[in-house]
Amino acid sequence: MRNNQKPKFLVDFMLGRLAKWLRIFGYDSIYIEEKNRPNLILNSLKENRILITRDHRLSKKRAWKLILIKNDHLPQQIKQLKDELNIVISRDNLFSRCTICNAPIEKIEDKEKIKDLVPEYVFRTQNDFSRCPNCKRIYWSGTHWELLIKDLQKAGIKI
Ligand SMILES: [Zn+2]
Repeated sequence: MRNNQKPKFLVDFMLGRLAKWLRIFGYDSIYIEEKNRPNLILNSLKENRILITRDHRLSKKRAWKLILIKNDHLPQQIKQLKDELNIVISRDNLFSRCTICNAPIEKIEDKEKIKDLVPEYVFRTQNDFSRCPNCKRIYWSGTHWELLIKDLQKAGIKI
């Protein structure tokens, strides 16, 4: 499957926003909370996940692959990943994963089914809906999506 060839990530607790964005771009990204840090890092390295951290001490340890994020600003962090790992940011893959729980989201074929679950205006004006099978959150493209693309473009990331 094509999905298996994409890098998977393990994102350290201080980089929560970056983890969310990686999911928005369609990358399997586990976010480590501080309290879960010691074991989860070890366990997930077994899954050949690329560890993304700002922790200099960790960067000295052996890991399958580790990226030490250098910049405080999110667009620059994304740029660093793009430069070093060649991650692909394309409109086709945007919002293919749940930003909350990392599960691949499923397209809703019949939007009538979610009529009562989204604001009425959204239901009337949007046609493409997806749902997370895990947390049931519903996604649709719209204003939020367009703002995101503008932000990326401002940061010099073509999409
Ligand atoms: Zn979810």
